[in-house]
Amino acid sequence: MSDAYDLTEHQVLNPATEEVIATVPAATAADVDAAVARAARAQAKWAALAPADRARLLRRFAAAVDDHLEELAQLEVREAGHTVGNARWEAGNVRDLLDYAAGGVERLTGRQIPVAGGLDITILEPLGVVGVIAPWNFPMPIAAWGTAPALAAGNAVILKPAETTPLTALRLAELALAAGLPEHLFQVLPGAGAVAGDALVEHPGVAKIVFTGSTRVGKQIMAKCAQRVKRVTLELGGKSANLVFADADVEAAAAAAPMSFLDNSGQDCCARTRILVQRPVYDRFLELLAPGIESVVVGDPADEKTQMGPLISRTQLERVRAYVPGDLPGIRGTAPEGPGFWFAPTVVTGAAPDAPVAVEEVFGPVAVVLPFDDEADAVRLANATEYGLSGSIWTRDVGRALRVSGAVAAGNLSVNSHSSVRYWTPFGGYKQSGLGRELGPDALAAFTETKNVFISTEA
Ligand code: NAD
Repeated sequence: MSDAYDLTEHQVLNPATEEVIATVPAATAADVDAAVARAARAQAKWAALAPADRARLLRRFAAAVDDHLEELAQLEVREAGHTVGNARWEAGNVRDLLDYAAGGVERLTGRQIPVAGGLDITILEPLGVVGVIAPWNFPMPIAAWGTAPALAAGNAVILKPAETTPLTALRLAELALAAGLPEHLFQVLPGAGAVAGDALVEHPGVAKIVFTGSTRVGKQIMAKCAQRVKRVTLELGGKSANLVFADADVEAAAAAAPMSFLDNSGQDCCARTRILVQRPVYDRFLELLAPGIESVVVGDPADEKTQMGPLISRTQLERVRAYVPGDLPGIRGTAPEGPGFWFAPTVVTGAAPDAPVAVEEVFGPVAVVLPFDDEADAVRLANATEYGLSGSIWTRDVGRALRVSGAVAAGNLSVNSHSSVRYWTPFGGYKQSGLGRELGPDALAAFTETKNVFISTEA
């Protein structure tokens, strides 16, 4: 695959050390064009296979991922700075998702709808070639969220990983081939977003784009897809609220809050970075929160004891720094000095509810804590953002939990916990957090066209 490129290269850095760990070719628009032609041929053969055979091959791909789980996890540690525990979970998520999607191949059924004078059936047809454009924050799982169901539904996939994190994607493509998936059915084209990514978006032979990344780029991609009425799924940014009511188990809420926004160094679109606490327990919550933030172990992501690694890049580090002027009151953890893109866990108190740090996606280990008066005030604050991806509600009142779950405009809510993502439940955003849903029981259907056929019995 990589010998087809003749152009510029991308250097891949270890964000914990700033060392160059690999150099990867960058695909051009011509490379994308050739890949689409190869993918279209592979897709026709793939869709013609018996469903059981497609399912079996996907299960073999899952088994190959399982056999190389530690290798994939270590690659993720080195190129993305993820803690090794998280990286193992991520490789396991790819395996599980492939298995789950494989189980859908023989269950991807249409319907028979009652009509007069004949028979009406719906047929779910694959779209053809699907382009998956992935970000750097969860390179492996997010690549698989688009790829696994798209393949299971009979499509070919071209995956464009983020510039900073192409290595696990390239390894997954090798494993797919070794597991017996047809050549060119799943191709990985590393390259610049504005070049290789854009070429996928613009290509008439690509039927759908699955994009995960910033809201800014997502809007551009949606506008370009509109020119061709190209199908698009968007998973974009977030600024999720963590609502702590006075009737909650405040100890449990405070204990869970740090990793709800520090996991993956805060580079998580579901990070609960707006902690909204009801006034009667506000001071108590902060008292309990402080030791939890100060004791987070930040350091070498390859060390099993580490809870938080570095940020992905210098650019990201500068971006995060700009949100946290030194004089803001709050709580600060610790981070290593020296090489690597380190930022200490940070909680800002006393920010205005409409300050940039309180409403914009920082995508780093930074949260704000804001007080609220009552349920209506909590919901108003939770919804005072253009995003709507996730959120958490801490209360012992089940009626309140249900009322607030109904009132918060977000796609993934969690009561007395911070759960966001399971491969067998749907995931996606309200408002500017995205369009469409990934994962869950309907994941394969998002990669099909529904064709309705009426067969007359009159003739
Ligand atoms: P980004 O939007 O800059 O890049 C994402 C991907 O798009 C990369 O592969 C990039 O190369 C590509 N790209 C960039 N410009 C492009 C263009 N013009 N045409 C086609 N492709 C292009 O985002 P990022 O910096 O990689 O990721 C961070 C952002 O992603 C954050 O805002 C975060 O919230 C969001 N995100 C959202 C989710 C979600 O599920 N909602 C998940 C992960 C990340």
